[in-house]
Amino acid sequence: MSSENGKGEQGQFASWFDANRARLLGELGELIRIPSVSALPAHRDDMARAAEWVAARLRAAGVPTVEVLPTSGHPVVLGEWPAADPDAPTALIYAHYDTQPADPFDEWETPPFEPSERDGRLYGRGASDDKGNLLIPVAVAEAFGQAQGGPPIGLTFLFEGEEEIGSPNLRPLLAAHRDRLRADVAISADSGMWSPEQPSLVLASKGLAGVQLDARGAAGDIHSGLHGGMAPNPLGALVTVLASMKDADGRITIDGFFDGVRPLTELERAEIAAIPFDAAGYGRSLGIAGPVGDPAFTPLERNWARPTFDLNGIWGGFQGAGSKTVIPAEAHAKITCRLVPDQDPGAVIAAIARHVALHTLPGVTIAVNPIAGSSRAYAIDPAHPALLAARDVMRAEYGRDPYMIRLGGTLPVAEFFKADLGLDTIFLAWEMPDENLHGPNEFFRLENFDRGFRVYSQLFNRLSSDD
Ligand SMILES: [Zn+2]
Repeated sequence: MSSENGKGEQGQFASWFDANRARLLGELGELIRIPSVSALPAHRDDMARAAEWVAARLRAAGVPTVEVLPTSGHPVVLGEWPAADPDAPTALIYAHYDTQPADPFDEWETPPFEPSERDGRLYGRGASDDKGNLLIPVAVAEAFGQAQGGPPIGLTFLFEGEEEIGSPNLRPLLAAHRDRLRADVAISADSGMWSPEQPSLVLASKGLAGVQLDARGAAGDIHSGLHGGMAPNPLGALVTVLASMKDADGRITIDGFFDGVRPLTELERAEIAAIPFDAAGYGRSLGIAGPVGDPAFTPLERNWARPTFDLNGIWGGFQGAGSKTVIPAEAHAKITCRLVPDQDPGAVIAAIARHVALHTLPGVTIAVNPIAGSSRAYAIDPAHPALLAARDVMRAEYGRDPYMIRLGGTLPVAEFFKADLGLDTIFLAWEMPDENLHGPNEFFRLENFDRGFRVYSQLFNRLSSDD
């Protein structure tokens, strides 16, 4: 479309939004009133009710095909609105209608499932994560439907009810409906922004590999007087191995651990360096002197773009009051590593196993047992056209460039969409770090509902004209 048409259309969208804003927020309130707490069996009927509410909302928006798909857990709501132009791309819009539990209830200033608007903020469980954000692309689809009969790109809505419990049934559903979920890009309406004034887009998140080390010596706990100096100590052997895995500067010293790690380019390092990091403030927030780790990288580089290795737990031997002169028979440790592109979790676990075998003291065996939940890191090409389009739209909306950020944690849906559907994911939602997600007094800034509406409508237009 020409830019003139674009402008005219934006004006038309703005007036549609102004005319419908109060109704849309009333609907958000209705959804918040349904206590769709996925973790609690007592809310099973509420979950079904929330799924039906979301399905009805999609139908009311004009989405021609809407289904509530059962899973072994809570249902998934699927809506399909193909573009009129068969050459237009399709976006798979993801969000979740379930929430975290609301307890402790007495710490809420107003009841969690009774939406309350104060100072431009809507308070209620799920207001930000993720009900407010879920409704933004639905409202945009409705606006396109009323303005021009349908959205400029194909939209497939995939709203799940188990995000807050780890999406245990999402992957089988993706596999079963692979054809219906065919798209050009995924857009997650479950995500955050750097701050209310500073937009951000996610470039990468980390994978995970975990192991449990099980060290064994004698057949049972033995007397340290009778056997000291002769019998092996598996607890000592375990800490010897663990201590050999990092040097004093925090560098990981496991041979083969970094195999496949994609080195950071100068441009990537410059982009990370452009994002402010307050080392002193970080230290204060944790009650530590400041960040630690491999001095060859900045703290943000280490957290976002370098693999990490953490000892999560260790146990063995006598732990009661006083002393017990024992040589324990066994000792254990749990380790998890956050991985970056293109590390293979299996190869990382194999490198740890080789290192353990090399450093195990005589008389002890140390088994390396993988912990379930391994995943590869996720990354989107910084030049992905949909990401560039989102970047442009955000720059226009905020008057500044979004930070291109990475996450030290994992984004499971991005990994699922990549592995199961071959889709890259753009994260476009407005959960703010201070909005008490998962805690008492969760709220959603209503200015972000307005912003989100503008950003999504412009992005859909951009994606249709990029084609
Ligand atoms: Zn969420």
